[in-house]
Amino acid sequence: MPFPSIIAIDGPAASGKSTIGRKLADSLDYLFFDTGVMYRAITWIAISRGVDVADEAAVTALAESTPIDVRPPSVNDSRACDVLVDDTDITWETRRAEVEGKVSIVSAYAGVRRALSKQQRRIGLRGRVVMVGRDIGTVVLPKADLKIYLDASAEERARRRYAELLARGGQADYETILAGVRERDRIDSTRDIAPLRAAEDAVVINSDKLDIEQVFEKVWQLCDE
Ligand code: C5P
Repeated sequence: MPFPSIIAIDGPAASGKSTIGRKLADSLDYLFFDTGVMYRAITWIAISRGVDVADEAAVTALAESTPIDVRPPSVNDSRACDVLVDDTDITWETRRAEVEGKVSIVSAYAGVRRALSKQQRRIGLRGRVVMVGRDIGTVVLPKADLKIYLDASAEERARRRYAELLARGGQADYETILAGVRERDRIDSTRDIAPLRAAEDAVVINSDKLDIEQVFEKVWQLCDE
């Protein structure tokens, strides 16, 4: 059997999707596409242009008119990809706390999801891709060859995010991060459109007691089966 060509990895914030997805894509020489960066990019564009994120019509218009370019990393500063809007590199802006605090509001808008899912589907259907997000296996690419749902407890995910921020030289408060992770989980999994959930035919992996190498080994076995 050949390796699956379209691989969907979904799961909650900080469940390790991006790390595992990138490693898998590199091993298979596939495109790695982290769809969360698109929702983050629209959120940052709204904030930086003074658009109120509560204004659904205005934010949707931004999503429909702003071309977002996601490319392999051009700078070796631990980024997973370059995020460009109008040739401006906004990669690190998309990781700001203000974006984290508002991205789930933006991503719950039907028009925003429609505009971004369309771009994601077009790229995904070309194949040889590992696409990572919340609704890839359920909505964007329901016919993906392999669907994985990576899960972990909110506490473990907050611990990982905390360590990541400290490693980047930033300041962080664990309790604040945990509250943010829980709030994003709540909004992402209770929204009406494309809520966060595992597809019925997804393989669920809980990484609470596993390190990256152990999760990767499981994922690799699934690809190889
Ligand atoms: O994965 P990441 O934490 O970067 O995603 C940021 C936010 O984008 C998520 O909390 C979620 O609200 C949204 N998102 C989504 N659908 C996706 C990917 C991300 O709604 N496919």
